[in-house]
Amino acid sequence: MQLIDKLTVLADAAKYDVSCASSGAPKRGSRGKSGLGATDGMGICHSFTPDGRCVALLKILLTNFCLYDCQYCVNRRSSDVPRARFTPEEVVSLTLDFYRRNCISGLFLSSGIIRSADYTMEQLVRVARLLREEHEFRGYIHLKTIPDASAELIAAAGRYADRLSVNIELPSESSLIRLAPEKKVATIKQAMGTIRLGEEEARGEPKAPRFAPAGQSTQMIVGADATDDRTILQTAQTLYGAYRLKRVYYSAFSPIPQSPASVPFEAPPLLREHRLYQADFLLRGYGYRVEELLGEPGNLPLDIDPKLAWALANRAHFPVDLNRAEPTLIARVPGIGVLTAKRLVELRRQRRIRYADLTRMRCAMEKAKPFIVTQDYRPLQAGHESWVLRQRLSEAPAQMALW
Ligand code: SF4
Repeated sequence: MQLIDKLTVLADAAKYDVSCASSGAPKRGSRGKSGLGATDGMGICHSFTPDGRCVALLKILLTNFCLYDCQYCVNRRSSDVPRARFTPEEVVSLTLDFYRRNCISGLFLSSGIIRSADYTMEQLVRVARLLREEHEFRGYIHLKTIPDASAELIAAAGRYADRLSVNIELPSESSLIRLAPEKKVATIKQAMGTIRLGEEEARGEPKAPRFAPAGQSTQMIVGADATDDRTILQTAQTLYGAYRLKRVYYSAFSPIPQSPASVPFEAPPLLREHRLYQADFLLRGYGYRVEELLGEPGNLPLDIDPKLAWALANRAHFPVDLNRAEPTLIARVPGIGVLTAKRLVELRRQRRIRYADLTRMRCAMEKAKPFIVTQDYRPLQAGHESWVLRQRLSEAPAQMALW
């Protein structure tokens, strides 16, 4: 098989994995200032498609042969798709070639499981080692970790990679047992624990070798089973707390060729994935708890974003007087982000906040207006029923935006 044919198969096979954002890696300059791919203090160059997926990494599988038969996966062993396999040297050569042509900022490498978890992980680590040690590659490397691989191999991966990820795949153990019986929640969590330990050791000891400085992430598939958004977000909340994950990525299930009857034939609405990302952002950046965003089992509303939904369900906190309120409550006003809340608090140390200050700071005023009081503004809508406000705000042109 020609290299270009392998690339066609293995790049296509990797497209279902979304856990590949490349932000957050400091420069890697241990051997002097120059070096292929060195970011030299400028950060890692990355770009995103409109739906938030990173496109600046060469994103491929080492192979799409797989011993496992996960029902939601196009590469499962029972799937009738063309198969291919790169050697580690071929992946290295492709990465360097694309990098030199300025097409990519780094490599995202995953793999089906061949022979054994350890053998597959060894091959992945070999790619990263060759890039770092033989070619002095300073670009970004994201390695997918095979959960059943030994702790030593995961530790070796962490020395070469900027980011490691272990996919939790499904939000509940019962779904994993049903749809991916060869995978075990316990080994997935054990691998996450090994990575967390490696990160902590590297942070705690100044002379310790680098270990996955951009942290670890995971991916959860949404809509391949009946799990609701509340359970999905609770799983994410637990993972953030227990393993210090940098990101949980949510991937709306895509029906695959010759899907087995155990998975749906239709994809969930992409807006559901978008709402989960918005809620996740509120968990990480704003201090919301899942139980606040979704008090009952069920899904996030699709017609309004979760921050607005929370505000409408908690009208007793509003309107918020921006000249008096705590910064954390100001950041909970729809249309006002956490950075703007900080700027408002700084401003009010000098003078009273007026309505025009918010427009100057580019707050989403249509959303914010019913929830704020300033020196010269008090909302007429404060007395409106929540359902009236919801109807009006869900029709606002910026309905897809969180702030
Ligand atoms: S182990 Fe990974 S590649 Fe193999 S079938 Fe499962 S999800 Fe697909």
